[in-house]
Formats: sequence, structure tokens, C-alpha cells
Amino acid sequence: MSSATTRELFDRYVIPTYGRFDLRLTRGEGTYVWDEDDKRYLDFGAGIAVTSIGHCHPRVVATMREQIGTLVHVSNLYYNRPQGILAERLVRYVGAPGKVFFCNSGAEANEGLYKLARKFGNDGLTPAGTHTVGEVVEACQYRRTIVTMLQSFHGRTLAGISATGQEKVKHGFEPLVEGFVHVPYNDGPALLAAVQDPGVVAVLLEPIQGERGIYPADAKFLQLARDLCDRHGLLLLFDEVQCGLGRTGDWCGWKSINPDVMPDAISWAKGIGGGFPLGAIWVGNRPVRLKTGKTIPLCDLLGPGSHGTTFGGTPLVSTGANEVLSVIEEEGMLANAKAMGSYARQALEALASPLIAEVRGIGLLIGIQLSDDFAKRANVPEGKYPSLFLVERLHEAGLLTVPSGASAVRWLPPLNVKRAEIDEAVEITRRVLASF
Ligand SMILES: *Cc1c(COP(=O)(O)O)cnc(C)c1O
Repeated sequence: MSSATTRELFDRYVIPTYGRFDLRLTRGEGTYVWDEDDKRYLDFGAGIAVTSIGHCHPRVVATMREQIGTLVHVSNLYYNRPQGILAERLVRYVGAPGKVFFCNSGAEANEGLYKLARKFGNDGLTPAGTHTVGEVVEACQYRRTIVTMLQSFHGRTLAGISATGQEKVKHGFEPLVEGFVHVPYNDGPALLAAVQDPGVVAVLLEPIQGERGIYPADAKFLQLARDLCDRHGLLLLFDEVQCGLGRTGDWCGWKSINPDVMPDAISWAKGIGGGFPLGAIWVGNRPVRLKTGKTIPLCDLLGPGSHGTTFGGTPLVSTGANEVLSVIEEEGMLANAKAMGSYARQALEALASPLIAEVRGIGLLIGIQLSDDFAKRANVPEGKYPSLFLVERLHEAGLLTVPSGASAVRWLPPLNVKRAEIDEAVEITRRVLASF
């Protein structure tokens, strides 16, 4: 065993890619975690929307203990039943025919979406019936551009930062992956203009933008994106890595905004496995006419040899995800997320703090926008983000939250959070704000 402190180990041996908070956590139970000094924290960050049913749920602990002693990994050279069952479950949650591919993270799930779009642009003519053949054959010579949104976040791989509409993640990593253009979020005319380019093959968006203060899409914007994709023969891709699989109180985050829209493909990660590293994409079955003349469902476009990963959907992680998602279903956590989400938003608004400008979000994806004069009122040190400053004061007071951009703080409690825990978090927040 090392005699160094945890901080010393990190300072010496861990590549410093993160601006970490000075918390050294050791164990968790339900909505609480404890640090090395056994101080208890109410966890309203949930590992950034990951531990969706809280820490160490007894059903998941028991199921994983059993699976770990049965079969952990076999690779995707073979079949394993838990992965098949999980795929069936996810297709059921989407509520439309399609198929699922498993990977390990949100960034990697989005890579699947980019590759699907590239393949669609290179091999496909267009979904049957939207263009005349002449138009399409011409456009398909160079259909490869994906339209994404400004202020978006799609992960840290090279294509992920290229897709992301924020300069700060790209800086120093040029040249970026080509084939992405960005338009302002919720800006119908800008999207309309962007898709006129015949080189465009897909539109990718987060139904709720998670990394700049929690901004939901407008219902009308989602519908427009669907209509434009239909009219131009494009794929509509939703990044539900943060907002999907129950966070909003629906399995499909966008259905909390507009249940009439159906994307062509979806990416998931974060909450899908309750803490086990897992990502996935769902792809729908709309027909794609290939240049070869054949017509196949979109979900079969990524055929054998075209995409893969060693770990994706292991028996262990798939079993864990199946149990986590069963618990959400059987313990009524979608309804709880909706009810507790409105309760929390109302309670935060009722604080009527001059330091809070707005409370945004859907279900348990909540953004607390700080007032423009927060830095002045709270005496935030020069150059420090107000969101980071507040998150640190909340840590000291025993509440874990996550910054979202420079001036908003996120609440992402587990989907089974209790009313009393929200009351406790609101009280801590009230006390900290009152101390400024
Ligand atoms: C977190 C996140 C990602 C990246 O997921 P990783 O698992 O960190 O790679 C992508 N998109 C959205 C919307 C996210 O919130």
C-alpha cells in the first residue's frame, strides 16, 4: 500500500486533465456519499447524471455479485443473452422498431451516430420517396456534413469535439474532424438555411442542452428539425446521453418536450447502467435505398465489420443495466422523477433569492441560473466562475451539485430521490445563499 495521500497520488501519477474539486470520496448509499474523513454529503450530482437509482441499490448489488461469479466478459465475437435482453428493453423504451449497438461511453455512442451518418451519406441514396433519383444521386457524391448546435456538448473524442459547438473544447487540437457545421440552438431559420446545402446528411442535437446551463429545445424546433430532415432526406440524430432514460421522467427525454417527434437514431450513456461504464445507440428501421439498388432498414446499415468495440455490452455490464432499468420501472421512478422535479423547481423558486435569476429544466435535470450580479454580491474572486464558486460553498455545506457553464448550477439527483432529501438540499442552498 502507498503511504502517500490521495491528493499526492493524483498530483504525482494522474494526468491532470480535470479541474477536480478537493473531495476524496470513499463510499455511497442511496442519495448520500462519504469522504475519507467520514463526512457525509447529499449527492445531487449523481456522478453527472450517472447513478440514476442512487448508490449501491441492494437489488443491483445482489445481481452484479451473482453475475461477476458467473460470466464477466466474452467479447462481441460471440452471443450473450444479457446484451440481447437489454437491446430488446431499449427498443421497447423508444417505442418504435429499431436495433441497438453497445459501446462504453457517451462520446463513443456519438461516434456511432457520426459513422451511421457517414455510411448513410456514402452508401445510401436517400430514404425512399423524398427526392427524385437524379437529385439524390448528384447530392450523394458529397453528402457528409452533420449540422449540430452551438453550445452543444457531444464528448471528448476528436470527432466529439468537432461536433461540439463550443470553442473551448477544440482549442489546441486542430485540425478537427471535418464535416460538422453549427447553428444556434432553437433557431429555426438558421437550421432551415443550413440544410439547404446538398452536402448535409444529418442533424444532431441534444433535446436538452446539458453543459451550458440546462436549456430544453422548443417543441416547435424539434418538429421543424424532423420536417426538414424528412424533406431533404437527412437523418435526425438525438444525443440523449444526459437527458435520456428517465432523467426527465420519460424514457425518451425529448418526449417530455414533444412526443410527436421520432428521431432516426439516439445515443445514450450516463444513466443507462447506473454507474457501470456503458453507452449505446438505437437506430430506427426506416428504409434506405442503397446505391447498389438494394433497400435495407437503416438499422442494418452498419453491417458486419463496419463498426465495433471489445467491451461493448459485456454480460456483466448488460446484466447491471437490465437490473438498474428494471428497478426504475418496478419502483415507479419515472413518475417520481417528474413529481420530485416539479417539487424541487417550485421549492427553489420559492426561495425568491435575488442570487437566482431563473430555474430551468425538466424532471430531475434542473439548472439554477445565477443572477448577473452574483459575483459581486457573493464576493467571487476575480476570474473564478460563479457556478464553481457556489458549488464549492455547497460542498462545504454538505451538498454535491455540478456546475453547468459559467453561471448555472445543476441538480441531477437520483430518480428515486425523496421529498425529504430535496427539502434538505433546498435548506442547504438557502443557508449558503443567505451567507453571501
Ligand atoms: C456527458 C455527455 C457526453 C459524453 O459522454 P462521455 O461518457 O463523457 O463520453 C456526450 N453528450 C452529452 C449530451 C453529455 O452530457
